[in-house]
Amino acid sequence: MSIKTRILNLVSLEGKIAIITGAASGIGLGTAKRLAEAGACAALFDIDESGGEKAVMEIKNLGGVAKFYRCDVTSSTDCKKVTEDVMQDFNRIDILFNNAGIVLRKNIIDLSEEEWDRVLKINLKAIYLLSHHVIPHMIKNGRGSIINTGSGWGLKGGPNAAAYCASKGGVVNLTRAMAIDHGKDNIRVNCICPGDIDTPLLHGEAAQLGEDEAKFLEEAADRPLGRVGVPEDIANAVLYFASDMSSWVTGSVLVVDGGGLA
Ligand code: NAP
Repeated sequence: MSIKTRILNLVSLEGKIAIITGAASGIGLGTAKRLAEAGACAALFDIDESGGEKAVMEIKNLGGVAKFYRCDVTSSTDCKKVTEDVMQDFNRIDILFNNAGIVLRKNIIDLSEEEWDRVLKINLKAIYLLSHHVIPHMIKNGRGSIINTGSGWGLKGGPNAAAYCASKGGVVNLTRAMAIDHGKDNIRVNCICPGDIDTPLLHGEAAQLGEDEAKFLEEAADRPLGRVGVPEDIANAVLYFASDMSSWVTGSVLVVDGGGLA
């Protein structure tokens, strides 16, 4: 076997089934495409049905395999049902990318209790809910890779984002706890902490803060590599964690932010 073939085999996801949450937009969409390009069947979970179906078409046009499942990741009923649906359709789950999330730019005084609960529910509790239903199937399969989306603001604080920072700090440490518990099951659990990525979520932040969008994005690009990220920057990191390239990596937290935290 040539060196090139050996490397391609290491990174290949041929025959693997990957669940991607928040797959209709931004980082989730970019990652679903990249994992499908690497050979995985992509199970796209999102609340946005038309966006999800459009994403399936985009992946099929790239020559990949994908199916959309409507799933509100904050609903235990939905998480259980769509996990069973994926098992029925593909009979295995190899990769889980817990990525759906929202941002709310408010401090503790301005945040209502309902807003606090909503952010924590989508960004943090949903990872518990879906993993709770998926991990038993990975255990039966004898292996699995789970990747959680944190944030630079899971490692440091940021202004007017109290619930968001709390939720993402939780994601970082939940990742470590899951990695410890499931190493014995040959399930690896890792976290990616993106910096500012050009997605609808980032544009929405400017609107929430009442700031000029162009100025907001220009300031976000002020980091060592001089630009904001694109979804593919995160998708490539997910591919690393999803593939055998990272076979001895678990409980790790990878910052992908153009040097912003540095
Ligand atoms: P995005 O473009 O807004 O995509 C998020 C997707 O998740 C949307 O399709 C959204 O649907 C969906 N979603 C929201 N609530 C959901 C729910 N309850 N169940 C299922 N799907 C749901 O955001 P993104 O920028 O790609 O963000 C993805 C992740 O990266 C988030 O966890 C975010 O915190 C994290 N992150 C992003 C950045 C950044 O700069 N973009 C930086 C650091 C971390 P709707 O559009 O219909 O709500």
